[in-house]
Amino acid sequence: MHNQLAAAYGPQHWWPAQTPFEVVLGAYLTQNTAWKAVERSLENLRAAGALTLDGLRALPLDELRRLIRPSGFIVRKAPALKAFVAMLDAEFGGSLDALAAAPTSAVRRRLLALPGVGPETADAILLYALGAPVPVADEYLRRIAERHELLPVPHRSKSPSAKSPRSPSYDALADLTRRAFAADPPARHVQLFNEFHALTVAVGKAHCRRAPRCESCPLAPDLRRAQKQARSGTAAETASKSKPKTPKSRRVSLASSSSR
Ligand code: SF4
Repeated sequence: MHNQLAAAYGPQHWWPAQTPFEVVLGAYLTQNTAWKAVERSLENLRAAGALTLDGLRALPLDELRRLIRPSGFIVRKAPALKAFVAMLDAEFGGSLDALAAAPTSAVRRRLLALPGVGPETADAILLYALGAPVPVADEYLRRIAERHELLPVPHRSKSPSAKSPRSPSYDALADLTRRAFAADPPARHVQLFNEFHALTVAVGKAHCRRAPRCESCPLAPDLRRAQKQARSGTAAETASKSKPKTPKSRRVSLASSSSR
């Protein structure tokens, strides 16, 4: 998929930011928000001189809320950004470089303990701001994984936060990416994870929407393969059901997942 998408879309040059701290800001602000709105917030912060650690530190909370209003959820996002800076100051000498130098698993745990930080935000900060080899999963990857049958049903989450009881969990999706690139040299993982996430967002926006536009999608050949495998799996299941005492197998219907 990476190669097909890279051939179709070319280099994505992610993350759209000039500094690692801008990446951090963008990772918080983009939660439940379109990137266009984030850009307006970042412009407001830039105009106020608050697009740096020093600038954000000096900014009163109510002013921060006002500047990031275009991104929405300001009551949650403004204190969350302040909490990130407070953590950086208290534990890493106010230095993103020091944060990046700490063990990745410890930094991930610390980020996840902050208010307003879930796995997607934590991993986006780790990968795009700190340069750690950590894959990022999101709603677009979930749709692609489900529609292309990339995860077997037993690995799907039963957590209430999942989109449906049969939706893959965040960790299962991230692990899918990790395993897909396992044969590549570790030194290339940061760049591959960076590019793959950006490419899945690109195909998600252009094609893999709630109602998928598969006809002209660069991943359509892959989907046809998955559908063929699903059909042969269904045929095998039908055959196995006709035999008594054979354990039932479970498959997700591509037709039902594609109709969302
Ligand atoms: S739009 Fe269709 S072919 Fe493209 S990624 Fe989504 S399910 Fe696959």
